[in-house]
Amino acid sequence: MQLNYIANASLPSSSGRVLPVIDPSDGQVFEEIQRSNAADIDSAVSAARQCMDAVWHKVSAAERSRLLMRLSRKVAEHADELALLEQRDCGKPVKQARADAAALARYFEFYAGSCDKLHGETIPYQDGYSVLTWREPHGVTGHIIPWNYPMQIFGRSVGGALAAGNVCVVKPSEDACLSLIRVAQLAAEAGFPAGALNIVTGYGHEVGDALARHPGIDHISFTGSPKVGTLIQQVAAERHCPVTLELGGKSPQIVFADADLDAVLPTVINAIVQNAGQTCSAGSRLLVEHAIYEPLLERLGDAFAQLRVGPAAMDLDLGPLIRQSQQQRVWDFLSDAQVEGIPMVAQGQIVDEAPDAGFYQAPTLLRDVPVMHRLAQEEVFGPVLAAMAFRDEDEAVSLANATRFGLVAGIWTRDGARQFRIAKRVKSGQVFINNYGAGGGVELPFGGVKSSGYGREKGFEALYGFTTLKTVAIRHG
Ligand code: NAD
Repeated sequence: MQLNYIANASLPSSSGRVLPVIDPSDGQVFEEIQRSNAADIDSAVSAARQCMDAVWHKVSAAERSRLLMRLSRKVAEHADELALLEQRDCGKPVKQARADAAALARYFEFYAGSCDKLHGETIPYQDGYSVLTWREPHGVTGHIIPWNYPMQIFGRSVGGALAAGNVCVVKPSEDACLSLIRVAQLAAEAGFPAGALNIVTGYGHEVGDALARHPGIDHISFTGSPKVGTLIQQVAAERHCPVTLELGGKSPQIVFADADLDAVLPTVINAIVQNAGQTCSAGSRLLVEHAIYEPLLERLGDAFAQLRVGPAAMDLDLGPLIRQSQQQRVWDFLSDAQVEGIPMVAQGQIVDEAPDAGFYQAPTLLRDVPVMHRLAQEEVFGPVLAAMAFRDEDEAVSLANATRFGLVAGIWTRDGARQFRIAKRVKSGQVFINNYGAGGGVELPFGGVKSSGYGREKGFEALYGFTTLKTVAIRHG
């Protein structure tokens, strides 16, 4: 049974209740986590506050850097163990789970290098004055994490917060806690003081809500669905607690007729099948210039038909979806497509070895999806690619911007001037030109516009969000 991790100690929930952990590859329960409650959040926040007030605020930036670097090395040393936990817990194919563990180590490495480079400024003011700014940590930060990339999202959120001098209380998704509990233990081994990093598991409406409401939380970093993001924002607004929201996406890949199709093909496929399409920045809409719509779909269809889905341990192109309700969600989208006559170009194959009780879904390529259809508007969060054609740049931009989301966009063209024209007009937090980074790039500031959220994580930019600016004006004559 897995326990919470508070003040460098493994503790059961005061509720005395547990939740089952299900392996998505076979649908079987293999572990238990704590079903925590508001009292457990209270203990974690108290431990964090005590750490901040007694120890952490005195720890120098250089020492924070050394601690994060030691944690990065610990994660790298335990990468196989962490990857195996994630593989079992989330149904990630081996390669993906290993990539996530490597990314976690890299996040801590990146943020280790940033601690002593974050500083304020001096500002020219009136005669007889000196004015300077200090970048100060918020204090106790709350981190609510989704299930799709637990290690990566934990790394970017907690790594940035600790680097900037905060302490953390983390609520992982009830569907994916195991790797993060282990990382918190590794942080204690690396020398982080008791209370700097605390993990409390349980349901969102119970512990997540308690965390967001807790008056001792000074900043909330939420990554998850737009619906829950709205709830967090409302709860936080009551006490004016700052929030960073990393929400969903319906990201377009815009392919012009002059694009290098040999580069487009594998990247477009990977951007929708990676992690079985359960990626906020999945390239889930394919916008193709009319002249190459048919030939590109033909090549993509052939490639989709070759994709294979199976148990995580088989390490195929895709593993299972996270849970049965997610599988049902994807089926609902696909049955709508069928009822409404949206043509299916191709589907991959689920291998015979996949247990019936696992949550499998074959990757699916749909064409001529009407722009206002829910398949072109809403996050499926599964391996479903919706293709549509455009005639010119204006139509491409209008289709790209025609959803409530704005997380990532891919632009594929050899025309340099067009690359910039489209990049400027697309409403999106990130733009990739002749490449696409679904979830990639520790160094690259990441976040959305519109309903994809606000604030930035990843890169150096994240540190500004995890600090507040104090202006100090001195009159010395
Ligand atoms: P979710 O919103 O259901 O859950 C996210 C987290 O919020 C979980 O830990 C959950 O327990 C918690 N939660 C649920 N209800 C809560 C409540 N009432 N109060 C407080 N916390 C609550 O999302 P999910 O299904 O875990 O993840 C998928 C979603 O996350 C997708 O929409 C995806 O696009 C988004 N996502 C966004 C990014 C990004 O960086 N933009 C990254 C990954 C995932």
